[in-house]
Amino acid sequence: MRIVLLGAPGAGKGTVAKQLTAHDGSVQISTGDLLRAAVRAGTPLGQQAQAFMQRGDLVPDRLIMGMMEARFQERPDEGFILDGFPRTIPQAVSLGLLLKGLDRPLEMVVNLVVPEEVILDRLTTRRTCSNPACNAIYNVKSNPPAAGDACRACGSKVVQREDETPEAIGRRLEVYRQQTNPLVGHYDRTGLLVTVTELDTAAIVKTIVGALAAQVG
Ligand code: AMP
Repeated sequence: MRIVLLGAPGAGKGTVAKQLTAHDGSVQISTGDLLRAAVRAGTPLGQQAQAFMQRGDLVPDRLIMGMMEARFQERPDEGFILDGFPRTIPQAVSLGLLLKGLDRPLEMVVNLVVPEEVILDRLTTRRTCSNPACNAIYNVKSNPPAAGDACRACGSKVVQREDETPEAIGRRLEVYRQQTNPLVGHYDRTGLLVTVTELDTAAIVKTIVGALAAQVG
């Protein structure tokens, strides 16, 4: 599959993307995960991105597109689930051109719609595995890690992300409303948009897989 997952921070993009990878072997590409890995590795990209991320602001489009162009050229044939990208209209336009050049156009854009009170609750209770190769997602209330905050998948420490302070969360939601939400109208006009309002991950995955099958059939 070649799809984009749209939705506010905390809408469940990462969790849904991970489950979709099991469906047909398509890979999850999360710009947030790629950027956090670059910050940890101290690469020039990571050094430039870090301050934006800590504040909850978007990393400039130029840096994001450079990173994603390299990522797509590396393995141009694979199926993908884009999680957290594109996040601005210029990113969406550049992505369209990039995929057109690779003859791999998007098949579907899924908008995960989640009420704001659910988002706020999820973001403050979310925890993430600190092992970049794992990045499993937990929730202290509904899906806690093992004893001692250990990841149940790989045993690494499970932590709260640096940008999940109340200030950064507020900023990320504001940035989402102003810069990312306009992508809903953008993709609606291209006829690619599917809106999903379920909150349960299994139900969301079922809806997406069903919509993809209906498109093929
Ligand atoms: P996420 O893990 O998707 O919530 O992303 C964490 C942070 O990484 C965001 O708050 C931004 O600072 C940055 N980021 C991730 N993806 C993008 C993107 N497509 N464009 C700009 N900044 C991004």
